[in-house]
Amino acid sequence: MSVARAYGLFEVELARKVLLSPHMARLTFAGPAVRGMRTLAADQRIKVFFPNAAGERPAIEDRADWYAIYKTQDVATRPPMRTYTIRHLRAEAGEVDIDFVLHGETGPASRWALNAEPGDRVQITAPNAAFEGEVGGYEWKPPAELSRVLLIADETALPALAGILEDLAAREAPPATQAFVEIPHADDALPVATWPGLEVEWMPRGRDAHGARMIEALVRARTPVLATAGEAVGEIDIEAVLPWERATGGADGFYAWVAGESAAVMVIRRELVQQRGLDRRAINLMGYWREGRVLD
Ligand SMILES: Cc1cc2nc3c(=O)[nH]c(=O)nc-3n(C[C@H](O)[C@H](O)[C@H](O)COP(=O)(O)OP(=O)(O)OC[C@H]3O[C@@H](n4cnc5c(N)ncnc54)[C@H](O)[C@@H]3O)c2cc1C
Repeated sequence: MSVARAYGLFEVELARKVLLSPHMARLTFAGPAVRGMRTLAADQRIKVFFPNAAGERPAIEDRADWYAIYKTQDVATRPPMRTYTIRHLRAEAGEVDIDFVLHGETGPASRWALNAEPGDRVQITAPNAAFEGEVGGYEWKPPAELSRVLLIADETALPALAGILEDLAAREAPPATQAFVEIPHADDALPVATWPGLEVEWMPRGRDAHGARMIEALVRARTPVLATAGEAVGEIDIEAVLPWERATGGADGFYAWVAGESAAVMVIRRELVQQRGLDRRAINLMGYWREGRVLD
């Protein structure tokens, strides 16, 4: 008997591309295989494989050891792989939406998204619906008892954040929530779910450094007040890896989810954990990308 793998390799083609704002496009991918895709949370991450520098479309063979084979292949000629978020999955219709930040032609993913036309093909690795166990690949796991939520993101984490707001809005009693979103320009603000206890602050970056607005948000971020000093945070080499610290639960109803450019995430990490002494078990801190680096 064959057992479904936790993650599948999905062949898809671009069905539609819609500009959501000057720097964000929604790409809808379609294919019969998408009926077998699954998403478990608003920040479900997936890997997308793009055409290589020669323009050859990705053709990774779907077999159990495909990733081991991929890693042995020449970086210059294998299809580049980048991490994205499932924004919406309409499995029955065989469609999945991914919201791409259009940051220019410097990376294969943004370049492809800028130029892609309906019919263009990529491959996606994502959770398999036929696999019933826990597959991971997401960090938004708030506890049932939730009184206060803090969300800080830049535009790369806006797709996940928008889904998180939808998730919270659907709760019987949505918690008091502050959402701070750094965006390139004021026109990049998007419609999001709302409720009376939600404060959303769109923070246009203008010509300032990536992450500057995320850091400034700390001044206005309301967090529990603790009597004791926090523990020292360790070092992470953000030029080599994306910082990634997962919450394991909530603490007194407080829960935080922070994602964006790595250097900004590191400053926020020091402030929340070391300066404010918040319980690390309630805080997700995730570098989604590092300025000037290609990390994945
Ligand atoms: C869990 C997770 C989920 C993510 N979800 C999304 C998502 O849904 N949508 C989305 O758009 N991104 C998302 N990202 C971020 C995305 O993976 C990176 O931005 C990625 O580097 C883009 O690849 P690229 O080929 O365009 O650029 P790369 O080849 O990786 O990088 C080329 C250059 O561009 C720079 N760069 C990369 N991203 C940006 C940016 N946004 N703005 C300015 N410069 C940049 C790099 O620092 C580098 O100098 C996610 C990342 C993670 C870890």
